[in-house]
Amino acid sequence: MRYDRIYLDWDGVMWDFMQAYLDWHGIQEKLMTDRWDFYSDLGMTEEEFISSLKRLPKEFWNQEKYITDEAKALVEWARENGDTVKVLTVTGGDNACLSGKRDLASRLFGLSVYGVKNGLNKKHYMATAGKTNLLIDDSLENIYAWEQSYADGTNYGYIWPAEYNKGEEGRFYFDKSWLQLPAIKKKAHWALTDSDRSALLKEMAAEKEEKPVLDYDGMEEAKRRKMTPMFSGCLAYFPDALAQVAQNSMVGHYQHNDPTEPMYWDRSKSADELDAIIRHLADHSKDPYDADGRLHLSKVAWRALAMLQKFIEEENSNE
Ligand SMILES: [Mg+2]
Repeated sequence: MRYDRIYLDWDGVMWDFMQAYLDWHGIQEKLMTDRWDFYSDLGMTEEEFISSLKRLPKEFWNQEKYITDEAKALVEWARENGDTVKVLTVTGGDNACLSGKRDLASRLFGLSVYGVKNGLNKKHYMATAGKTNLLIDDSLENIYAWEQSYADGTNYGYIWPAEYNKGEEGRFYFDKSWLQLPAIKKKAHWALTDSDRSALLKEMAAEKEEKPVLDYDGMEEAKRRKMTPMFSGCLAYFPDALAQVAQNSMVGHYQHNDPTEPMYWDRSKSADELDAIIRHLADHSKDPYDADGRLHLSKVAWRALAMLQKFIEEENSNE
């Protein structure tokens, strides 16, 4: 089961409206409440509050810094679980508010915004026949109106948990730990019990810890051979690059030896590996091809392999 549409509330869910309002009006005291109708703590009536909202310009409503910590993960979660995701928010018929919110939601999340005059009007976005809609909102009233509105389809509502909306039946609350589940497991969230969820979270933590350690020095010889994938980890990774390296061996044979003899590596010739590597790297940035038509990078690779081979042989002979 997926939801046909998921509507995300904006203020108090995606955007910290209260903090934005306090900052904008230069109110520094920390309010002792988290209630959505915090205006009464500012000594305002509802009417005064609403008329103060109408005076707020678009620049107030599109401030990115008040996007909540969970907003991004919530949008991802919604996209995993719903065919369509929209923002459904109260704009009170105010154009500055609607266009500010639209700006921000579309720029940051690619979401479109539906504005309603008041929270109870969200119910007009209820599901039509055969459809299932979900609203995530921090207002209890909005959720109850939504769920109880008459519709042919099915309306689900989740309360976005906050200090001011605690204490209702647990099943109504959006569980923020869902946002931490890996994408593939998020999909079945409605089928998960609490113990499923905590097992999943534990599993994720364990996966992080139990990464096996690769210790070639401590391995038995047989294991080490098995863990040295010369074909799948070397030839299959770099087939084209290694073909270039092999050709360079032949080029060197033609250049330094008698080409009528079978190919061999005369290690006494041109043994300045480090200088040669730097030279070819520097030249590569001007023109990728050397004067003889070979790629400088293929010569860097050949020289690096030559140096590595000599280094290892030297180490082994010292053991
Ligand atoms: Mg809200």
